[in-house]
Amino acid sequence: MDTVRGEAPKSRVKQDADYIFHELTRSICPDCKTVIDAQIIIRDNKVFMRKRCPTHGWFEGIISSDAEMYVDSVKFNKPGTIPLDFSTEVKDGCPLDCGLCPEHKQHMCLALIEVNSACNLNCPVCFANAGLGFSLTMEQVEKMLDRFVETEGDPEVVQFSGGEPTIHPQLFEMIQAAQDRGIRQVMVNTNGVRIAKDDRFLAGLAKLNPVIYFQFDGLRRETYEVIRGEDLLDIKMLALDRIHEAGMSAVLVAAIERGVNVGEVGAIVEFGLAHPAVRGVVLQPVTHVGRHIDFDPMQRVTIPDVIHGIVDQSKGRFVMEDFVPVPCCFPTCQVNSYVFVDGDKTVPLPRLLEIDQYLDYITNRALPKAPNAADVQKALEGLWSASAVAGTEKTASQFECACGPGLDLPYSMNHLKDHIFQIAIKDFMDAYTFNVKQVMKCCVGILVPDGRAIPFCAYNSVGYREEIREQLTLEQARSKIELARRSNS
Ligand code: SF4
Ligand code: SF4
Ligand code: SF4
Repeated sequence: MDTVRGEAPKSRVKQDADYIFHELTRSICPDCKTVIDAQIIIRDNKVFMRKRCPTHGWFEGIISSDAEMYVDSVKFNKPGTIPLDFSTEVKDGCPLDCGLCPEHKQHMCLALIEVNSACNLNCPVCFANAGLGFSLTMEQVEKMLDRFVETEGDPEVVQFSGGEPTIHPQLFEMIQAAQDRGIRQVMVNTNGVRIAKDDRFLAGLAKLNPVIYFQFDGLRRETYEVIRGEDLLDIKMLALDRIHEAGMSAVLVAAIERGVNVGEVGAIVEFGLAHPAVRGVVLQPVTHVGRHIDFDPMQRVTIPDVIHGIVDQSKGRFVMEDFVPVPCCFPTCQVNSYVFVDGDKTVPLPRLLEIDQYLDYITNRALPKAPNAADVQKALEGLWSASAVAGTEKTASQFECACGPGLDLPYSMNHLKDHIFQIAIKDFMDAYTFNVKQVMKCCVGILVPDGRAIPFCAYNSVGYREEIREQLTLEQARSKIELARRSNS
């Protein structure tokens, strides 16, 4: 070393890092799924997850394109509600003990039942990786519903999904079984193909009147060609019109991918506001699990990109402050907004009252002095929850409680529900963004025939989906062989 003591050579002058170390959490290796430490860092007002697998090296992916929004959302974190019972023990640590295990911090606001793995489409973007596999029996679904009622007591929402649930021959009995158990809201998650083409099916569905969670990625034919592998625009339009004619309502659900339909988010909201069957939209950045098109983890679409898209494309109808994090899950998972719609007039709920005053659980604990403040807080907690379903009387009455005085509402509850529009933006995690801190407070679970309820992002990213699909497929094959053996003997 030939430098004079105290004079560091130029190359050894201390440098500031080009990022802020925000926190340490746990995640998984995108290659081998091993649970590893992960750093959340902030750089250029964006938030990234950075982690190292001892075998596969370093990984980095963006988790929010707006650091201020990300950090600020933490104040919306509310205490979880513990379920009545857990289905697994704490053994290997999160996320390997799902679930729910006693370490989980929230009950299930919304449960999904994937009734089959097959589909009548073959989309290039499909987190469920739909294809041949299993089809649940009525007995399995009844057991799952019973267990859900046992663990929740008073369950809010069940959504039948797949694969494509409308091609399951017993979907109607399954919906009926959920309704018979007093589950308040039943939804069917569908691509709409059967609704567009099958009159008898539509008539049967309309009798049960579930809310249709309707895959709708945009208004351009090219969008469907990229995301769904074919031009489905006409089928989507026809299905929506038929849903309306049949007296049902729908929530549009769009998968948003960089370079494909980020520029359409405003148009999807505008279309939803204008269509008589549509009571809300859910905009979901594509989750890069299962089947997906090539992506760069540093260029993922995140929640602020979708909000900016809506604001920029809505010609002044929306502003950034109209979108508020959801407190029941971890608040970086989802933002919601509600809009009162009357013809061309739209009034976002956050313009009618200071939502922060009610849903900020960290920095502002004192509720406003208004006599009904506790009721307003409860109503807002209902609206800003994964269990809030657009187009229902419950959502309308919560809206009315929260801002009836701010709006002159000349409607009965039955009519008001048709004037409340929900916008939800959900950023499901993939192996690049998987954060144990978020999944431990997840309130969306996939029910499994063995009685487990597995948080959605753990199910899709950690390996549960593959394991359970293999097990259900094998069981089904064995029981078919056994049936054939018996009928031959
Ligand atoms: S996600 Fe929840 S249920 Fe699963 S292991 Fe973690 S704490 Fe337990
Ligand atoms: S994304 Fe939905 S419609 Fe497309 S293949 Fe998968 S399950 Fe079927
Ligand atoms: S499903 Fe994923 S994004 Fe949604 S609440 Fe659960 S952990 Fe968060």
